[in-house]
Amino acid sequence: MLWTGSRAHLDELRAFAARHGTDDPFRATFPDEAGVYAALGLPPIRPELREGRGEVEAAWAGRLPRVIEIGDIRGDLHAHSTWSDGASTIAEMAAAAIARGYAYLSVSDHTHSLGVANGLDEARLRAQWREIDRRNAELAPFRLLKSAEVEIRRDGALDLPDAVLAELDLVVASLHSGLRGGREEVTGRLLRAIRNPHVDIIAHASGRIVGGRSGADYDWDAIFAAAAETRTALEINASPERLDLRDEHARRALDHGITLTIDGDAHGADGLAALHYGIATAQRAWATTADVLNTRPLDELLAWARIRR
Ligand SMILES: [Zn+2]
Ligand SMILES: [Zn+2]
Repeated sequence: MLWTGSRAHLDELRAFAARHGTDDPFRATFPDEAGVYAALGLPPIRPELREGRGEVEAAWAGRLPRVIEIGDIRGDLHAHSTWSDGASTIAEMAAAAIARGYAYLSVSDHTHSLGVANGLDEARLRAQWREIDRRNAELAPFRLLKSAEVEIRRDGALDLPDAVLAELDLVVASLHSGLRGGREEVTGRLLRAIRNPHVDIIAHASGRIVGGRSGADYDWDAIFAAAAETRTALEINASPERLDLRDEHARRALDHGITLTIDGDAHGADGLAALHYGIATAQRAWATTADVLNTRPLDELLAWARIRR
């Protein structure tokens, strides 16, 4: 039988078997994966949880989480359009979101400091809002949310005034440069953004690129403490080249009581389909539906954002 699980999971199972006086299950053969666990008196443990992070004891105690599934997602809170560097128009993005069964989609184009991405200044943002209002009138009850992926500058300030941020439905903030700075510097920049009361979500916090650059060297404990204190959500960016937060960081965020989002960061209508990569990361972090902001109905999501202002 082919069995998938990490080395650390195998070690947890062996230690459990030893403690409970059971034979080493890996000397026997079983017709299926569930048989391995049944031989130990355990319920099946799904592959995403086989990481040696306490899942065997949790299974024994009946405390395995009912992790989030893709069908629990009601919308995407980080998506781009042709207004910045996306390949699809707002109308095309909305149609793709509706086709996925979503109730809402954030239009979160880049802001002007990210010149290479044709980022929006205040005037273009206001023009975009007029298009969003028109589309929403046609598409109700589906809802496009007025948002922006606001650039965190070198000093940790955002590149739009607070008065403009206050008019957005949802503010996403992220770093795209200077990620190689020293720990104190990068941590300070992100902390300042987290402490801005208008910031709802920090996108792809570490900035890592899979197979490319490693993420920023934060003092993660300080980041998580500040996000928990300010009730700022942290994103699991599902784009396969990012997967950021990664699973270990998402798990630690949940331990701090932080709310997560799982977003495609789509730069075209087909990009919404990347979401399942983020779902798998969230499952490995033991995230449940209640832990993830974009499982909530639209009115609850908007109420969450309003309370934070
Ligand atoms: Zn970004
Ligand atoms: Zn983005």
